[in-house]
Amino acid sequence: MTQIKRIAVIGGGIVGATAAFYLSQKNYEVAIYDDGVGQATSAAAGIICPWLSQRRNKEWYQLASKGAAFYPQLMRDLNEPLNDSDIYQQVGTLVFKKKPSLLKKLEQLALKRLETAPEIGEISLLSPKEIKAKFPLYGSEESALFASGGARVDGSLLTKKLIDQAKSNGAHYYPEKITLSQTNSTEYLISSATQERTYDTVVLAVGAWLPELLDPLDLAVDIRPQKGQLVQLHLHEDMSQWPVIMPDGEKDIIPFANGKIVVGATHENDGGYDLTATKEKLDLMLEEAIELAPGLKNATITGIRVGTRAYTSDFAPFFGAVPGYPNLFTASGLGSSGLTSGPLIGHMLSQIISGESTDLPLSNYPVEHYIKKR
Ligand SMILES: Cc1cc2nc3c(=O)[nH]c(=O)nc-3n(C[C@H](O)[C@H](O)[C@H](O)COP(=O)(O)OP(=O)(O)OC[C@H]3O[C@@H](n4cnc5c(N)ncnc54)[C@H](O)[C@@H]3O)c2cc1C
Repeated sequence: MTQIKRIAVIGGGIVGATAAFYLSQKNYEVAIYDDGVGQATSAAAGIICPWLSQRRNKEWYQLASKGAAFYPQLMRDLNEPLNDSDIYQQVGTLVFKKKPSLLKKLEQLALKRLETAPEIGEISLLSPKEIKAKFPLYGSEESALFASGGARVDGSLLTKKLIDQAKSNGAHYYPEKITLSQTNSTEYLISSATQERTYDTVVLAVGAWLPELLDPLDLAVDIRPQKGQLVQLHLHEDMSQWPVIMPDGEKDIIPFANGKIVVGATHENDGGYDLTATKEKLDLMLEEAIELAPGLKNATITGIRVGTRAYTSDFAPFFGAVPGYPNLFTASGLGSSGLTSGPLIGHMLSQIISGESTDLPLSNYPVEHYIKKR
């Protein structure tokens, strides 16, 4: 008789939560461990719109665009409504550029990408008046490119739903920080302040903390942290159909159905793992956002979120098996688009562990480029 796999998923951000959710639907024993401190997923802004990015890396684009396309399937698998959910909704995205010629260029790119990514939806150049009709707080004279397939996602609500569903499928959830060691060639020991357990399969979905997790196994990891901060506001408005606003720069504006509006985020390469909020940076972002959308002045500040993104030295993400360590799997380096690609990556990790073919070729995201024996 074959033994049931005992799987520990370390990290309850978007990657770990999705992997645990899909694994818990199979005949495995699944445990999720999550420290939660500095988690990028719960701090994230929530923009899903990879098609209008001018980044040239083909593998990144394939992952991010397939990741965006995967969301409707994830919502169906979670029994969430597609058009009326606080978690995820395609409300469209408005992208701004400094010059009309750059906006025209972006429209050409979007139309080209539409040929292979119908999820972009309808593309149109909107006048300031048309923008205001969609986003009543708008008060600037700039035009923008609208893509109706753009979406917003609430990372915290999504991971909560995924973990709750995994728990109802029998998974265990431990909100604890752990360390990892290998007991023998087929078993890993997970230790926390309160317990020690062994598993035959481990998924390390720990984002920016992968170097410290793999240090005891004598593995060096090419991952560096990047600090991100944003402001959370509240407005007494029904914003369920309002689009996401992406101006040139850092002050994206993301309205949610429940009255929440997020403005941000910063990209601070020298911030490391620091989680202190910096008033000047947040004030500046807010000021810039108010210039574009003066109606934001009436919103109340309800919170500040700070999280840590994970980057590789060439900005590319990786996922799959850790070479030299049987049944040890990982994903990291998702950078600033991890809410977009994370669910698909978590799904693919579950496919690898179950011996199924993956949604995308693993060779394009090679773990061995980023994790090396010391
Ligand atoms: C401010 C900000 C805004 C962003 N906005 C967007 C956006 O609009 N769109 C987009 O697509 N992406 C966005 N991102 C990027 C996205 O949030 C991340 O790429 C993605 O969430 C990474 O997911 P993850 O599961 O790999 O890591 P994380 O979400 O960081 O999860 C890792 C988890 O592992 C836990 N962990 C670490 N070490 C241990 C340990 N030893 N034991 C137990 N648990 C441990 C951590 O505490 C954490 O909870 C943003 C990020 C930030 C910070």
